[in-house]
Amino acid sequence: MLDADFFRRWLTTAAASVGREAERLTALDSAIGDADHGSNLQRGFTAVATALEKETPDTPGGVLILAGRQLISTVGGASGPLYGTLLRRTGKALGDAAEVGEEELAAALRAGVEAVMTLGGAAPGDKTMIDALVPAVDALGTGFAAARAAAEEGAAATIPLRARKGRASYLGERSVGHQDPGATSSALLIAALAETAE
Ligand code: ADP
Ligand code: MG
Ligand code: MG
Repeated sequence: MLDADFFRRWLTTAAASVGREAERLTALDSAIGDADHGSNLQRGFTAVATALEKETPDTPGGVLILAGRQLISTVGGASGPLYGTLLRRTGKALGDAAEVGEEELAAALRAGVEAVMTLGGAAPGDKTMIDALVPAVDALGTGFAAARAAAEEGAAATIPLRARKGRASYLGERSVGHQDPGATSSALLIAALAETAE
């Protein structure tokens, strides 16, 4: 079973990973966006880590909702409300249980990903974070390592796609040939989840 501490470790692992990879995320965003994805997420996840040190919610849902709120209030870019919604909606779906099982987490994350699709209007194949998140959630039933591999494959598979949502869509055909920054950061989040579960 996964408790509040597991979720806190997931998010602090994710914050460290975003910190290490911020330059790469920004470089990807400089090719097809406005070169701020790494700094946006670094600011957001630093706020998440700080909030989780100050407050210690005692349920998985509480941890995710607190983290989602931090992302929404500190990240200026499109990714802030989208990732904030992902974590908040997933947290809400977990309710006030003190511990949750892997199947419950998979179902809650699916609700979170669906909320991101509703908010942003993106579907699989639009070259967004959805292209990493949907395969990850689909694979989560098989385990955390499978979810990680699926997210990383999904992110790599955005390279030949033409962006249909977000800033990169303004480039039209010129968005082809570059990996989507948000799909890349989503793969980092799922990798952090798998590392936490190891
Ligand atoms: P901004 O584009 O506002 O500068 P970021 O650079 O932080 O924001 O985030 C860009 C990423 O957000 C994109 O690479 C993409 O994965 C994701 N994104 C943008 N718009 C959408 C959307 N409508 N639905 C899902 N994801 C989106
Ligand atoms: Mg950007
Ligand atoms: Mg921006």
